Amino acid sequence: MSISALDVIRKKRDGNELSREEIDFFLRGNTQGEIPDSQAAAWLMAVVLRGLTVQETACLTDAMLYSGEVMDLSALPAPKVDKHSTGGVGDKTSFVLAPLAAAGGLIVPMISGRGLGHTGGTLDKYEAIQGVSVNLSLSRFREVLETCGCAIVGATEEIAPADRKLYALRNATGTVESPFLICASIMSKKLAEGIDALVLDVKAGSGSFLKHDEDAMHVARLMVGTGRRMGKKTVALITDMDQPLGCNVGNALELAEAISVLRGRGPEDLRQLCVELVGWMFQLGGRVDSVEEGKRLGIELIRSGEAFDRFRQMVGLQGGDVKAVDEPSRLPKAQGKLDVASPRTGYVTSIQCEAIGKASVLLGGGRESEGDAVDPAVGIVLHKKVAQPVKAGEPLCTIHYNSQARLDRALPLIEQSFEIGDVPPEPGRIVRQVIPEL
Ligand code: URA
Repeated sequence: MSISALDVIRKKRDGNELSREEIDFFLRGNTQGEIPDSQAAAWLMAVVLRGLTVQETACLTDAMLYSGEVMDLSALPAPKVDKHSTGGVGDKTSFVLAPLAAAGGLIVPMISGRGLGHTGGTLDKYEAIQGVSVNLSLSRFREVLETCGCAIVGATEEIAPADRKLYALRNATGTVESPFLICASIMSKKLAEGIDALVLDVKAGSGSFLKHDEDAMHVARLMVGTGRRMGKKTVALITDMDQPLGCNVGNALELAEAISVLRGRGPEDLRQLCVELVGWMFQLGGRVDSVEEGKRLGIELIRSGEAFDRFRQMVGLQGGDVKAVDEPSRLPKAQGKLDVASPRTGYVTSIQCEAIGKASVLLGGGRESEGDAVDPAVGIVLHKKVAQPVKAGEPLCTIHYNSQARLDRALPLIEQSFEIGDVPPEPGRIVRQVIPEL
């Protein structure tokens, strides 16, 4: 019996399980342009509302993975290890981890994404460096990896094309927040990279798509199960996203902050998370015997400047202006700055992290509609984070903006996102859990 796109949509809409053939048919049809995005959007919404079974999730991940080529990096004589995050606000760890892990002897073939929902995208941030190309052909991607051990690129027509298409469509249709779609999106890209091992940074909290730890654990288990099914060593760290990571939110601002971590400076939470994640990357890649040893190696490679040098080399190989790496003050800058003052004296008891992410999008740092240009310069710099004391009138953050109209839309969200109380809350843990449990 022949399969029709409409039947596949109706079947999922009605809560029934799709077969591998039906999922393959639908995915291939949409990737090749035979099934229109209007039907793909309806199907995505049905998946968000009805969910997928474990078997369907596996079929979807496979269909997305094999929509393009799977890289064979076996000729490169080092373990291939990557990390991917489920998306957060102020999450710039990729710029630290790719060169840091490469400086420690791993190959990091990192396929990343653009801004999704209220979260920023690694590719948008990377492109804040003038000249950087994230659209490398497979052969150029391989050359960069051979030369410096790491590269950060986007999905292409050759590699993970189904995710390239569905990612943008999900962003435009309110269909990001599905554990099954997040799993298939991330794992199809990562498995296409030809890696041996993968560290997943699964964000939990107000700035994540996964607000509660249970949601994050569900996605973590789905992804770790998928990685292992495909013979890859995979761990997931559930990490805190109840406030932005580090202090800077916005493309160029985040890049500058990542560079400061590579220089041995930067905010403590960001530095700590990078060291934790790279410790796992080194351990899974067999460079060290324990995560603790891997963390020590990471700290030493930052201290010695090797990680920074590797980042500089990667940027140059991808066509970027290395002068902006040496002097981040050359990165794009917004014309206007506005401080947001604390209405009272006390302690920051919470920061509505999703609201900060949305505000950054409204300022122009992300896309409100498909095809919008992204402004690399705008964003928010936090001066106070959760549990810190603040005096009435002291700035909580500074908004970097290029348009008064955009500022007018973003400002109320930012003002409302800080809660000030009399008692400082207990500081949260950066890594809340590791899956599989040790
Ligand atoms: N990152 C991805 O690559 N895909 C998602 O769906 C969410 C975060």
